[in-house]
Amino acid sequence: MAELRIAGVTKSFGAGPPAVERIDLRFADGELTALLGPSGCGKTTLLRMIAGLETPSAGRIELGGADITALPAHRRRFGMVFQNFALFPHLSVAENVAYALSIAGVAKARRLARAEELLELVRLPGLGARRVGELSGGQRQRVAIARALAQEPDVFLLDEPMSALDAQLREEMQVELRLLQQKLGITTIVVTHDQREAMTMADQVVVMSKGRAEQVAPPQEVYRNPANAFVAGFIGKANMLPATAMGGAARLDCGTSLALSPPAAFRDGAELVLACRPEWMRLASGPGPNRLPARVAFVRDIGQVREIHAEADGRTLVCELPFSAPERPRLGETIHLEFPPDMLRAFPARDRAEVA
Ligand code: ATP
Repeated sequence: MAELRIAGVTKSFGAGPPAVERIDLRFADGELTALLGPSGCGKTTLLRMIAGLETPSAGRIELGGADITALPAHRRRFGMVFQNFALFPHLSVAENVAYALSIAGVAKARRLARAEELLELVRLPGLGARRVGELSGGQRQRVAIARALAQEPDVFLLDEPMSALDAQLREEMQVELRLLQQKLGITTIVVTHDQREAMTMADQVVVMSKGRAEQVAPPQEVYRNPANAFVAGFIGKANMLPATAMGGAARLDCGTSLALSPPAAFRDGAELVLACRPEWMRLASGPGPNRLPARVAFVRDIGQVREIHAEADGRTLVCELPFSAPERPRLGETIHLEFPPDMLRAFPARDRAEVA
């Protein structure tokens, strides 16, 4: 199969900042990439350019080394699934699935046989004669997937494919879609604003903000080593602390110095933002290096974890312990939060806007 690449892709819709700005990406053969970011960050616009439904203002889109930037959507052999599934209500399930084949002039018997094969693939065998209106949300989504796969597309594009489904079904369909994608080995791009969805399905996550790609990496890397404070705050939870660089360590406004491992490569006096995930923090028995006294403001047990909210350095920090942890501090108690040096991430001051 051919590799998809985009280089310097930009889209402006008139005055104001571009909706998508100079994005370079490589979509490895057979891998699933999630375009993840808050509302309005340009995910759909980027997907639509890849699909050929929108023309880039600048940049290049390549498939197998060939420039397809100006190739119209219907000549790209890309399968698409939209947010609302966009099924034809007046057609049967099988006719919906075989729609592209009927446009391509494939004979009726052959296209209905192919539709049945695809319905089996998406675990809806025997439902071909039904009307779309007689299906549940999850079944409709499977029909939309089957329809997009009918022409054996080179690339599979999905725009918020789970957003019409309720929470439980969404989780099931994420797993199902991922398994199907891996079975078919089809290069896939999924737009989502749901980080759990991206983490469940993707080989590669593109975290977007304001038209730009902030980080492109596998899910674990994005979580463990966020490229900047925006990514740290958008993916999972993070405690953010403003600090000043001093001899490779970071000094908080309250005067406490926190060691970083490896030491931060910032000049002394540079303004920083520190990030530490709640489950990376520890509860220490007393004062010590990389510890910060904090006053307990709230404690809750939520399933597998115990969350301790505590005030320090003028903000509320959250520390997460396993539910079985012996420590359960009382409200108002002074505790000592420890930041393991190798679990602190330091970012330059331009990221300070991300500190709540
Ligand atoms: P959402 O998650 O809300 O769908 P998104 O990340 O997919 O958001 P886009 O739909 O790509 O974001 O929009 C990016 C920006 O481009 C937004 O500011 C949007 O208003 C703007 N935009 C998108 N399409 C058009 C258009 N056809 N004309 C003008 N502006 C547009």
